[in-house]
Amino acid sequence: MKYRTISLLLVAIAVVGCNTSKKMNQNNYSLDSSTLSDGNNIENSKAELTEKDLKYLKQCLILAEDALMAGDEPFGSILVNQRDEVIATARNRVNEINVLAHPEIELAKWAAENLSEEERKNTTMYTSGEHCPMCATAHGWVKIGGLVYLHSSHQLGEWLKEFGVKDAPINFIPVEDLIKDADIKGPAKGDLIEDIKQLHKRYHQRK
Ligand SMILES: [Zn+2]
Repeated sequence: MKYRTISLLLVAIAVVGCNTSKKMNQNNYSLDSSTLSDGNNIENSKAELTEKDLKYLKQCLILAEDALMAGDEPFGSILVNQRDEVIATARNRVNEINVLAHPEIELAKWAAENLSEEERKNTTMYTSGEHCPMCATAHGWVKIGGLVYLHSSHQLGEWLKEFGVKDAPINFIPVEDLIKDADIKGPAKGDLIEDIKQLHKRYHQRK
């Protein structure tokens, strides 16, 4: 009887321990996390962006600025096929449609309706910001083969803190943890990052 009590106690401790570590992982991914070094490790382990990637990310930046001009948060995304053709574009339309009108989920839906599975595999989504979990899972379900983002969710979280903006209502999870079998690159470095940061700053300063 005594042995059984101890066993149950050990199981209880193990369960509590599991829950605690699970919660800690979730917190690591939240926008207001202080895990800069973890984020950087993930980012540094990925392939470098090419000139072609930067060219398409600049198009995303222009779409993000279009969104800003229209009163939306500056996010823009494009789909590029294997012949290097831009086949679809989208920008944030949260003010115009509803709070779920992120460009990445719009493009994932467009790809599901207009491209074959083989074509989707050979398509890359370029986007000004790393997908939120809603858009990442849409991307994953549609099986778009590539994803290149300009800034990470972690970077955006740091900027929002700097601008004194209230945190998002969800936790952000790195896209690599949500999407299987996609070639993922990002974030960019240098001037483009400063440009997109300034767009976000303008959006939040104007509110
Ligand atoms: Zn999203």
